[in-house]
Amino acid sequence: MVRCKGESVHQSRDWGYYGWPMLFGIAWLVCAHIALELTQGADGIAAVWPPSGIFIAALLFFDRKRRLMTAAWVAAASMASNMWAGSGFLATTGYTVANLVEGYLVYLIMGGSHSARHSLAHPWHMARFGFAAILAGVASALMAGVLSGNLAFAFLSSWFSTVTLGMLIVTPVILFIATDGPNRRELVSLKSLWTMMVVTILSVAAFGQAGIPLTFLPVMAIAIATATLRLSGAAVALVIVAAVGSILTAAGAGPVSLFFGTTEEQVLFFQVYLVALLASSMPLAYLLSQRESDLATIAGNAARLEAAERAAKVGHWRFGPADNSVHWSREALRICGFEGNVQPSFEQWVSLHLPDDRERVRSFIVEATTHGLPFAFESRIERAQGDVVHIDCRGDVETDHQGRVTALFGTMLDVTDRAETMRQLELARARAEREAAEVRLLAATDPLTGMPNRRCILANLAEAMDSAQLRNTPLSLAMIDIDHFKAVNDKFGHGYGDQVIRKIADILCDEARDRDSVGRLGGEEFLFVFPGRKADELDERCIAIKKRLADVEWDQEHDVTLSIGLAQLCAGWDERDLMRAADEALYDAKDAGRNRHAVHAA
Ligand code: GH3
Ligand code: MG
Ligand code: MG
Repeated sequence: MVRCKGESVHQSRDWGYYGWPMLFGIAWLVCAHIALELTQGADGIAAVWPPSGIFIAALLFFDRKRRLMTAAWVAAASMASNMWAGSGFLATTGYTVANLVEGYLVYLIMGGSHSARHSLAHPWHMARFGFAAILAGVASALMAGVLSGNLAFAFLSSWFSTVTLGMLIVTPVILFIATDGPNRRELVSLKSLWTMMVVTILSVAAFGQAGIPLTFLPVMAIAIATATLRLSGAAVALVIVAAVGSILTAAGAGPVSLFFGTTEEQVLFFQVYLVALLASSMPLAYLLSQRESDLATIAGNAARLEAAERAAKVGHWRFGPADNSVHWSREALRICGFEGNVQPSFEQWVSLHLPDDRERVRSFIVEATTHGLPFAFESRIERAQGDVVHIDCRGDVETDHQGRVTALFGTMLDVTDRAETMRQLELARARAEREAAEVRLLAATDPLTGMPNRRCILANLAEAMDSAQLRNTPLSLAMIDIDHFKAVNDKFGHGYGDQVIRKIADILCDEARDRDSVGRLGGEEFLFVFPGRKADELDERCIAIKKRLADVEWDQEHDVTLSIGLAQLCAGWDERDLMRAADEALYDAKDAGRNRHAVHAA
């Protein structure tokens, strides 16, 4: 067979995979030899048979390949040990077959390949295992009897009890140590050393003397080992108790030999004692170790939840209105600014809110409690540190089987950053709007007079024309020019000329009515738009303007007059036509001697 390099490396690394079945085989051989040497009874078989337990532990723990390898090693060890002990070849073969079959029987009853998933310490699986061990013990005894040709009751009952108890005591111990991963490491520690010394001393005290009845001490010893080292500790302590008890009893010391005369009676007592010890201590040890791992899981989950809450700035809370009970998660307390491990009452929490928010928050909670509906709100809290946090609270109600609200449960999200961002955005938006309005106003305003500028008044004109044409209503225009304004400038300076322009602009704005609009076209020219007016109706308006101007008391000695050209919108005209008509009328007014108005003859 050709084997590639990689495969050989892989094989050499996995020596443990193949080594374990061999180790179990050797353990089987050693235990069998010791059992036969030390406890061989009058019927020729050992008084206790731990090898059965070793083999079954391997079957229940290993995968298929290693199960087969272990079976092969065990078969070899069984043949060797029984032949060594003086059994004939046929009897030895019979014993070996019986041991192998009993092992596989338990394995099958425990669920075959699924059996590895069950912990024997679980009370239910322990009961199933007890049943399997008894059944396999009976089958094994019958098979050994038939195959070895020894059907004497003493042989059969002895085989049954030793094999069954071998399984009941040894298998769980090996499996506990094999499967109790996290706690197993503790077995190699100073604490473990002390514990096992205490177990040994108590076992010696119980089985090493007969003067004082102390057989309860091993129970205490296992309880101590369970408390300090849990499942694996209990299992190892049980082995120590069994070993110390067996050796001392076999040596004739202790209370067992005092109460029970024959070896069979002593062995039987000891076996029952060990099974009772196992059955009473292991479920307790299992529950304890389960509790430990559950607590560790809970603590881990709580720590992860807390870390997640901290990262997300979200806390949770629960409030029971009936008894005013409260629970705040650590992050909820941090968000609200509570320090230490205080659990503030609901009212305390409400009172943290800014006065504007308090009633609203309370009413949300009351509503939810009354109507049993989910809720969500945002509010502001003033923390003890003096800063204000914005929170987003969401929750739902918990109800009893009659639908009555028993508690409110919810989350609290710190949205201060978001609220601050929203506030900044709102400020920026308002500022931008203000600036845009200012820009719009500036773009439409004449800087000297503050009245609508050329662009604005022409836009107003376009709009008014659209409306007039749409509704078929009249529209008139007045183009206004200051007479001989150049002379004012020349005489009194440009600055003074500006004052005059401003004053005239004020008068014109003042004279605008209803929908009228007026603006500065440029220089010393203005445009008046009269929506809904005919040109020949505007005499009075022109006279009023002139009169207002005449009443002005100027700072300098001069007159200021205006020439006004009036035009009315005709069908088919555009803005340019109307402006040109008003301009022509203005020229007419100028030509006619100024300080007057003229109407364009359409
Ligand atoms: P007419 O009666 O023919 O209109 O004579 P006029 O002098 O008013 O007309 P002309 O067009 O010759 O002169 C207009 C003057 O208006 C010229 C310019 O110096 C002056 N002017 C234009 N814009 C301004 C301004 O913003 N401020 C001042 N102070 N003067 C301006
Ligand atoms: Mg002019
Ligand atoms: Mg002029």
